[in-house]
Parts: sequence; structure tokens; C-alpha cells
Amino acid sequence: MSMPLQALLVEDNPGDARLIKEALIEMSAPRLQLTWTDTLTKGLEALATQEFDLILLDLSLPDSHGMDTVKRIEAAATAIPIVVLTGLDDEALAIEAVRSGAQDYLVKSEAEAHLLARVIRYAIERNHIHQTLRENEARLAALFEHMGSGVAVYQALQDGQDFAFSAFNRAAERIDHLPREQVIGKLLQEVFPSAAEFGILDTFRRVWQTGQAEHLPVSFYQDRRIAGWRDNYIYRLPSGEIVAIYDDVTERKQAEEQLRLAARVFESSAEGIVITDLKGRILSVNEAFSEITGYPLEEIRGQNPRILKSGKHSPEFYREMWGTILKEGHWQGEIWNRRKNGEVYPEWMTIGSVKDEHGGISHFVGTFTDITQRKAAEERINFLAHHDALTGLPNRVLLQDRVSQSLAICQHQGSKAGLLLIDLDRFKNINESLNHAFGDQLLQEVGQRLEGCARRVDTVARSGGDEFVVLMTEVRDIGEIAAAANNILIALSQPFTLDVHEINITSSIGIAVYPGDGENAQNLLKNADVAMYRAKDLGRNNYQFYTQDMNARTFETLVMENSLRHALKRDDFVLHYQPQVDIASGAMIGVEALVRMRHADLGIVPPGTFIPIAEETGLIVPIGAWVLGEACRQGREWLDQGITGLRIAVNLSANQFRQPGLLDTVAKTLADSGLPPGQLELELTESILMRDSELIIATLQSLKKMGVQLSIDDFGTGFSSLAYLKRFDLDKLKIDQSFVRDITSDPDDLAIARAVIALGHSLNLKVIAEGVENGEQLELLRANGCDEIQGYYFSRPQPAAEIPRLLHDKRMTG
Ligand code: C2E
Ligand code: MG
Ligand code: MG
Repeated sequence: MSMPLQALLVEDNPGDARLIKEALIEMSAPRLQLTWTDTLTKGLEALATQEFDLILLDLSLPDSHGMDTVKRIEAAATAIPIVVLTGLDDEALAIEAVRSGAQDYLVKSEAEAHLLARVIRYAIERNHIHQTLRENEARLAALFEHMGSGVAVYQALQDGQDFAFSAFNRAAERIDHLPREQVIGKLLQEVFPSAAEFGILDTFRRVWQTGQAEHLPVSFYQDRRIAGWRDNYIYRLPSGEIVAIYDDVTERKQAEEQLRLAARVFESSAEGIVITDLKGRILSVNEAFSEITGYPLEEIRGQNPRILKSGKHSPEFYREMWGTILKEGHWQGEIWNRRKNGEVYPEWMTIGSVKDEHGGISHFVGTFTDITQRKAAEERINFLAHHDALTGLPNRVLLQDRVSQSLAICQHQGSKAGLLLIDLDRFKNINESLNHAFGDQLLQEVGQRLEGCARRVDTVARSGGDEFVVLMTEVRDIGEIAAAANNILIALSQPFTLDVHEINITSSIGIAVYPGDGENAQNLLKNADVAMYRAKDLGRNNYQFYTQDMNARTFETLVMENSLRHALKRDDFVLHYQPQVDIASGAMIGVEALVRMRHADLGIVPPGTFIPIAEETGLIVPIGAWVLGEACRQGREWLDQGITGLRIAVNLSANQFRQPGLLDTVAKTLADSGLPPGQLELELTESILMRDSELIIATLQSLKKMGVQLSIDDFGTGFSSLAYLKRFDLDKLKIDQSFVRDITSDPDDLAIARAVIALGHSLNLKVIAEGVENGEQLELLRANGCDEIQGYYFSRPQPAAEIPRLLHDKRMTG
């Protein structure tokens, strides 16, 4: 304490006052500043203006006396210790003063002056203690009042059997919705009628008895549902009072309950659940998660769910998924994941973000179901919707789909598609005469045979009843479709064995081809149907194209094309040579090379049957190249045998002529064979020249430059015109045999022959007549100035070996 103690001395006797002053000075400690007044009035004035730590009070003052003095000072200075000064004679009065509030008393005598210091110190200390107590009390009262927990204090009555409220704090008022005025003084049961029922009264009694504090949680009901929770702590105070400190824990309990429920749901859910933190680390997974994925929590905690990735989705997929979660808070969809055992399976997944109280994302929760089963069921349903239950083949619905798809591809590729509608002949009779189970079995086997006939890209469907459809896609040539139809007819006409019965059936097939016979599935099916009925009308067991002229051509074409390919591969072509004779001298001046094909079954096949097909399929190019090569080789061989001046005429089709490599082929062939170019004659058709393009003129000029001879075959059958003949540098015209045939009987033909000869000569061209079969024809031609002839009259086309002999033996005129 740095400040000096302030003491007020109220003493009317100056001697006593001086005595006290001296005693205090002598004491020196505690430091003390003394204010002296000699009347009560002055003392009270001093108290009003100044603060004091101690009052030394004489009881006999001029303006007051005895206990009255004490009371008046106390009233003015409640917290200040008072030491009463008395004379030796009235110690009794001093004791009374102490009882009524003074701190101490001191008898004024020289002998007791030395006690003054101690009295003062005690007085101050005692006062200090009182002050502290009062402060504590005030603090406790405030604490009591403002505590967050409810506090109720009870007086124990009747030996701790009953308890009456003696204090009730503000929190208690709030929790119990009761003002303290309605509580204080009342018995516990009066305020809380159910206190006994909830065991509160018993607990109070026990605590009062034993002095052991107890914890008593209480829940109370309203409408048979828990309406609230109280958490009570009950103590006994040393005074014997009971204190209950309690909290309303309803909210906390409800939250706990909620959590417990959530935990139960989490654990017992059939859906897999995974919870991750913001960084995607797994915090928790439930049982279902572990069952589905195969990962127990211990193994996967702290990992990223990424380890479940199947690899079936692109990074783009995951980017979009997370984009949606972050933007919209959740995502739902199908996702393929991988189990611990490596198996990949589909899930239906929902991912949501969980936000904290500040609105930021704190967790992610993923819930999912394994939809493997559902998917399988879906696929099954899908299959059933698109397939025929009896045969397992695609049904009409799926067929339409496939047709549309295939048409799109064909359109893109420029290829063809064929729709073959196959109807079993007289199936109704078979089905009725056998039992239906056999009918079903027959249809199943028909389906199998059809699949056996189809290529992998084709679709075999059952479109209803005894009707099947084969869709052939990406077809290059109609012949392929005809061949397939033919195979089907053969396959279905083989006997079926059902149980012990052998059954023979036939079928009728209608064919529609894209793009010619329809632009969509519907039209193609309709036209295939029309064609199928035509096949029935034509006596069944055959196929018919919707477009009539395909019917005759295609199969032959197909067979022939095959044969031609074979022949090319196996070198099965052969050249025969037909002499060309100079009318004037009767000498053989050339031969025309005419190709034949050797066929295993058909023998020697004439070109009339295969050249058109070779033209159609483009095979004429390799065949023509072979002919040219062989003819030149043969010409050279004859030359080497000493046969000089024999011209070799080779036919050139329009198709061949259009090939960009023609000039090179001719030049190379000549060079390779060593045949002098002047001995090669190319027979062109009028159709080549009719094109009249710069390119043709240039090609012909190049051939001429090489030294090759050029003649026009079958002259007169095309659009013969002087105009085009003038433009080209040709060597010879060949009067077509159709004019020669009837030249002796038909004046028109003779007129034409004459005109051709005249025309040729006017252009400085030689004229040869082909197809001369008799002497009359020969004579007529000779008479009209024809230069050369070719025909059976002189010789049929012959194998090469025959030519040298003919050269020597035959003389037309001879
Ligand atoms: P073309 O060039 O007009 O050949 C003449 C055809 O008339 C040959 O028939 C020949 O055998 C036949 N012929 C000859 N003399 C007589 C006769 O007195 N009476 C009758 N009725 N016919 C006679 P071939 O060998 O069957 O050839 C038919 C056609 O095939 C040829 O007509 C030609 O256009 C074509 N051809 C033949 N070989 C080739 C070839 O190597 N390349 C090309 N592009 N076409 C060829
Ligand atoms: Mg010819
Ligand atoms: Mg001809």
C-alpha cells in the first residue's frame, strides 16, 4: 500500500487527542495521516468530503453521546472500520458498540496506548475480510443470476422429505418458463407435479441423505413424443440446502439422435456410400460400398476414389462430371467402375457436395447402386423386343433398323444392298399336317440354314410366320445377290429331319436392290414382296428380282465372271486366227486374232458369250492385254519361221481403248515381242470414234505414229458418217457380216456394201468384207471393188498351228 492510511479521529478532549497522535507517531507503521475533529458534526462533515480507512471515535462528545454516536457514524460510513475510544469506567458501553457494528474498542489510558497499533491493524484487516466476503457474495449472486444453466436452490423440509424453492435464477426462469415469484417458497411437487414420476424427488431425497452429488438426465413427453431433454446435476450444500443445476439439452439431443439415425442409415443402406473430404480423400465408406467394390474401409481410407476407375470413360467424361458437381452441387449418371477383383461393372451414381456453415464445400458424398443386374435385365428386354422368340433371329423391328443403317453406309460408299424376302412354299400345309412343335422346329432350322448361307455382314431376320429376310449389305455386284439367292434355294431344298420325319420344302425368294428398287426399308420390303409373289407365280422354288431384266442376266453374269477370273489366273485363254485374203491375188495377207476360253465343263467357249460380261466387269482390260501380247508373240514367231508380211489384226473394245495406259501397253507389247508395228492392225469399233474427243484423236494419232494399222470393225452397224471418218487417219473399213450374209438376195444390203466400198475408196481406205461364206458373195464383192475378204468360205478361225499350212495350201482362186 503506497498511499498513507487516512484516519479520522473524533475526540473532544484535546489531551486524549494528543495522546493518540503521539502514540501513532511513535508507532510510525503503518503510515497514517490523522484528521482530528472534536465534535460529531464536524466528524460527519469530514466523512462527507473525504475518504477514510479508519475512524477512531470517542463516545462522549459535546454534540452526541453513547450508542447514538456509534449509530450516526455507522450510518454515514458503512464500510469504514470504527474503533471506539472509551474511558476506563465505561467499557461496557464499548462492548455494546462493538456488538452493534464497531470493529474494536480501546480504553483511553497511557497503559493501553501501545495497543493502539494492533487495534488499528486488526480493525483494518477485519474490515478487509468483510469487504472481501461482501464482494464474493455479490460475485456469487451475479454468477447465480447470470449463469447459463438453470439453478434452483431448495430448502429441505421434514428431514429431507420435501423441498421448497428458496432461489431460482434467470436461466431457470427461461428454461422452465416460470417467473421466480411463482416458484419461491413453493414445494417442488407444487411447481413440477411430475417430479416424483421422473424420479427427481427421489434423487433429491437421496442426495440430501448421502451428500453425494448425482447426475439425472430427464426427458419429458408431449403427445407421446419426446418433447425435451433436461440434464440435471444435484448437490447438497453444507447448509443442508439442495441445489439443482440444469440445462435444456433438447437441441443437442435431437442433433445426436439425428446423427445416430444418419449413422444407422449410412451403415444399413443397400446403396454404396463413400464420403470424401474436399481433396477427394476417402474418409468413410459403408458396408454396402465394401460389398460392392470389395474394398474394406481400412484399405481404402485416405485413398482417392479414382482407384475404382474402369478406364472405360474418357478424361473428358470425368471433367464434365466434376464440372457439374462444382457448378450445380450434384451429379447423377451411369458410370463404369472396377472392383478390387478387377471386374468392371456399371453403377448408378449420385455425387453431391456438402457445404460448411460458410457456404464452402467441405465434403463430397457419393451414393451408388450396382446396376449389373438391372443392365442385364435391360439387355434381355431389349433383346426380346428386337428378336423373334422362336428362332432368336432379329425381328421386323430390328430388321428395319439394320436396313436403314445399311442404306446409309451403302449410300456413302456407293455400294448396293439386297433385301431377300424368303417365303417357304406351302408351309401352311406342312404345319397343319405335322404338329405345331415340328412346325416350330422346322422354322428354327430354316433360320439356322439361312444364317449358314449369309455372310458375316448380312442380317438374317424372321419377319413373321414363315417369312424370312436376308439383308445383304455393301454389295458390289448384283451377281453376288443372285448367287446368295441361289445358295438359299439349294440350302432350303435339302431335306429336313424332324424327329423321324423327313421333310422336303422349297422356297420362293423376292429380291429388291438398293438403290434401284427403293430408297428406304419400307419400299424395299414392299418391292421384295412383289418380287416374291412373282416367284410364287412362276412355279415356286425360284428367286425373282423386283427389276425384271436383272432376273435373266445376273446369275449367268456371276458364273461367267467367275470363270473369266479363273481363266485369267490359269491362262485358259487361247487365240484362234482367221485368215484375211486379198481378192485380187488370192493371197493370205493377214489374220484376225479371235479369243476363246477353255472351260472345264463347257469346252471351248466363244467370245460372244463372255466378251460382253468381260466388258461389264472390267475384266476386258487384263484379257485384252493378254490377247495383244499373245497375238504379237505369235506374229513374231511366224516371222521367225520365215512367214513374212502377215498382218495380225487384234480387236480392241471401247473399254480397252479408254484405258489411260493403252498407248504404253501397245508400245511395250510391240517392243517385248519384237513384232514390227506395221504388222499389227487394231480393229476399232465405230462407238469409239463417235466420242469424237480431242483425247481420242490424240490417241489414234499416237498409234499411227507408232506405225500401227487401224481398221474400223463392223462398219455400217453404228452411226457411220463421212464426217468422222475424215477426221481420223485410218487404214481400213470392215463391212459388217450382216450386210454380207444377204448380199446376193437383198438389194438393200448390196447397196450398203457398195456404198461402204465407195466411201472407203474415196477416203483412200482399203475395204474388207467379213463373213463371206460362199463364192457368190465373193464374186459380188469382187465385182464391186472390195479389196479383201474374210470368212468361212476361205477358212474358219483356226489354231495358230494351222496357219502356216493354210498359207501354202489354200489359194482362193485356186
Ligand atoms: P468380229 O471382230 O466381228 O469377229 C468376226 C466374227 O465373225 C468371229 O466370231 C468369226 O468367227 C465370225 N466369222 C468369221 N467368218 C464367218 C463366216 O463366214 N460366217 C459367220 N457366221 N461368222 C464368221 P467370234 O470369233 O465368235 O468373235 C465374235 C466377236 O467377238 C468378234 O467379232 C469380236 O467383236 C469379239 N472378239 C473376238 N476376239 C476378241 C478379242 O480378242 N478382243 C475383243 N475386244 N473382242 C474380241
Ligand atoms: Mg473383229
Ligand atoms: Mg466384225
